[in-house]
Amino acid sequence: MDGMTEEFRNHLDGILAEIEAEGLTKRERLITSAQAGRVSVRRDGEEREVINLCANNYLGLANHPRLIEAATRAMSDHGYGMASVRFICGTQDLHRELETALAQFLGHDDAILFAACFDANGGLFEPLLTEEDAVVSDSLNHASIIDGIRLCKARRYRFANCDMDDLESKLKEARAAGARFIMIATDGVFSMDGTLAKLPDIARLAKKYDAVVMVDDCHATGIIGSKGAGTPSHHGVEVDIITGTLGKALGGALGGYVAASKPVINLLRQRARPYLFSNALPPTVVAASIEALKLVEEGDMLRKQLFDATNYWRAGLSKLGFTLLPGEHPIVPVMLGDARLSQEMSQQLYQRGVYVVGFIYPVVPLGAARIRTQMNAALTREDLDTALAAFAEVGRQLGVIT
Ligand SMILES: *Cc1c(COP(=O)(O)O)cnc(C)c1O
Repeated sequence: MDGMTEEFRNHLDGILAEIEAEGLTKRERLITSAQAGRVSVRRDGEEREVINLCANNYLGLANHPRLIEAATRAMSDHGYGMASVRFICGTQDLHRELETALAQFLGHDDAILFAACFDANGGLFEPLLTEEDAVVSDSLNHASIIDGIRLCKARRYRFANCDMDDLESKLKEARAAGARFIMIATDGVFSMDGTLAKLPDIARLAKKYDAVVMVDDCHATGIIGSKGAGTPSHHGVEVDIITGTLGKALGGALGGYVAASKPVINLLRQRARPYLFSNALPPTVVAASIEALKLVEEGDMLRKQLFDATNYWRAGLSKLGFTLLPGEHPIVPVMLGDARLSQEMSQQLYQRGVYVVGFIYPVVPLGAARIRTQMNAALTREDLDTALAAFAEVGRQLGVIT
């Protein structure tokens, strides 16, 4: 018995040593302040304030007084926890209020909340599609979409990232194989690259091959499109199913949702396993998310700040000679290639008061390591200038720029 345990532990230690030897170990920093443009980080007993360039806090709402007030109020009149899944005794008026507000904001009939968008994507496909059907999925889709698709019995097709010819050939294949229903699944924004899916082309192909379109808009809702309604709004197209998160622009706490037509939402309420078998979101998060949606709808100024910062940051890094992936999204990836270099560079930037993270395999493909910087409305021009100076210094020192 003990020997087995010992062997098992050694086996796991071996894997960890391999990860370490390849320079792929991810280390977590201890933040001791609220999420904001600048955060306090504790290391080796030392506390340090750093400029945070890696939060999904796009509109700077993660510590917004109106969200905190809404959460505090909800805690006193709706309590702390639900201690139940939704269908037993976990649905408060607040949950339905948020679902209705999300549906309205996204232009769909109804919405359903999950504990996370990971769960929304994980639970979406299995109830809607059977072995008679097909899913055609972008190769760079979020891990939760990949897992969700694995859990359903539909036939699976994968098309090369944003490659519309490949999408069409996979749609043809699915039709030729006799698929009853076909669903195309894509991220609205690809989170490692900051590129937008080609929704107008996807919508056109969906129509041609009579397919349903599902878009995960986690990195778009709140910031892209009219009033932040997301990539369909930005591109002026309609899609059938939207999934999203409350954990990014919409306050950054946690929670996910699906917005779609009535039958989709109603069936998910009956059959989606992460919905049926996991606890309801706490009132604090639900109430603050309702408030976040209001701030998003009045948020043209915040979005202007966000995109001004993005343009300034992109131009500054380009001028220094860094290789960026092209785009307009507040995700600005600084391409480095080598995993160790990205770790070393993020380490040195941290020493100079800039908090960024090297993104390495398996989060990005091998040899495509990068520092993914992200802009948000809470960053000041001074923050950006300080960060640019640090990037210049470290970039030269490591030979990334000349
Ligand atoms: C962040 C993210 C998720 C997961 O959202 P959570 O609510 O944190 O689980 C899913 N899909 C995409 C595209 C994301 O960026």
